[in-house]
Amino acid sequence: MREAARDISVANVDWNNWLTDELAQRGRNGLLRRRRTVRPLPDGWCEIDGRRVRNFASNDYLNLAHDPRLIAAAQHVLSEAGVGATASALVCGRTVWHERLERTLAEFEEQPAAVLFPTGMAANLGTVAALAGKDDAVFSDRLNHASLIDGCRLSGAKLSIYHHDALDELAETLERAVQARRRFIVTDAVFSMDGDLAPLPELCELAERSDAMLIVDEAHATGVFGEHGRGACEHCGAEGRVAVRIGTLSKALGALGGFVTGSPELVDYLWNSARTQIFSTALPPAVCAAATESLAILRHEPQLMTELAGRCRAFRQALLARGVPPLAGSIGPIVPVVIGDPERTVHVAARLEARGYLVGAIRPPSVPQGTSRLRITVTLAHLVETLVEFAEVLAEELRRN
Ligand SMILES: *Cc1c(COP(=O)(O)O)cnc(C)c1O
Repeated sequence: MREAARDISVANVDWNNWLTDELAQRGRNGLLRRRRTVRPLPDGWCEIDGRRVRNFASNDYLNLAHDPRLIAAAQHVLSEAGVGATASALVCGRTVWHERLERTLAEFEEQPAAVLFPTGMAANLGTVAALAGKDDAVFSDRLNHASLIDGCRLSGAKLSIYHHDALDELAETLERAVQARRRFIVTDAVFSMDGDLAPLPELCELAERSDAMLIVDEAHATGVFGEHGRGACEHCGAEGRVAVRIGTLSKALGALGGFVTGSPELVDYLWNSARTQIFSTALPPAVCAAATESLAILRHEPQLMTELAGRCRAFRQALLARGVPPLAGSIGPIVPVVIGDPERTVHVAARLEARGYLVGAIRPPSVPQGTSRLRITVTLAHLVETLVEFAEVLAEELRRN
C-alpha cells in the first residue's frame, strides 16, 4: 500500500512545487498569513507567543465569551446533553436547547420566526444561495463579507456589485433589471473592515421601489447597535422594512452560530432549502444554552450597549486628540487605522504586540490594495483609562515607524 503511494508521487508532478511558488509569491508581496496560537484569558487579555497582551483584535464586544453566566449555562447542558449534536438539525440534532434558542432569537429580534445555522458564514452562504437563483439578479455591496459574496456566486444569479457611497448607480442598475424574475439587495449592516454602517433607510427605499428583497447581515451589529441590541436595522429605524435579517452568535454574543429571522414562510423555506443548514451538524446544545443566556443578559442589561458606545467614543476621541484619525465613516467598536503599506502595517502591529496590545493587521485581499490597516476593536473588557493608554502607545509607534 505504502509502496504504491510512493510510486504515484514519483510518477506524477510534485504537487508541492506550485504550492511553494504560490506561497513564495505571497511572501514577496508581504501578504503571507501566519497562524498563531492564542491562550484566551478573561477580561480582555490573552497570551500569545508566551506574552500576556490586551486583546484589541477580538469581536467579543460585550465581553461575554468568558462571562460566568454563559459558562455555567454551557457547563450545565454539556453534562446533560454531551458535546456534539450528533446529527443535522432535521435528522435528530435539533434539541430542546436549539428550539429554545430559536424562540428566544425570534422574540429578541421581534420577528415571527428564526432558524439556526452552524456559523454566520454558513447562514450567509446558505441563505443567499437558497433564495436567489439563476433567473434572478443580485445586487451586492463591494465591501460585503466573503460569506455573502460567495453566497451570491453560489446562487448562480446575475451579480451586480455596487458601492454604498454611490447609490445612484445602484438605483440605475436596479431599474434596468426589471426583466429578472426577482431582485435581491444584499448588504452587511456594519462593514467588517471599514466599520461603517450601511445606508439602510436608502436601501429600503430602493428595495421597495424596485420590488427587491433586502437581505441584511447584522454580524457586527447585533448586541452593539440599537437600543435593544437588535443591530443596525433597529438603530436606523428600518426593522419593519427588511425582509431577511441574518446574524451571528459568535461576536457580541460571545458564543457561536448563525441565524436568520423573518416571516414563518421565510424560515420554513430555509429549513427546506438552505444546504449549509440541512447538510451540516447542528450546533452543540451547550453552545445554544450559552447563546440563550447571552440574549437574556442583553434583554435585562440594555445599558451594556450604551456603555460600549461610550467606550468607543472615548477611544476615538483619544486617537483624534493624538493625531491618529480612525477611518472616516467608521462608527462603533471597529476602529480601522489605515497605514497603506502591508509590511509597515504588520511591523506596527508587531511593535504594539511587543508593548502588550494585540490588534489585527489587515492586508489585501481582505481590503483593497494600498489600504492595509490596523483593525482595532473596542470591547467592554477595556476601561476608558486603558483605551486612552493604548491610544498614546499607538500614536507613539506610528510616529516612530
Ligand atoms: C464574522 C462575520 C460573518 C461570519 O460569522 P461567523 O459566525 O464567524 O461565521 C458573517 N458576516 C460578517 C459581516 C462577519 O463579520
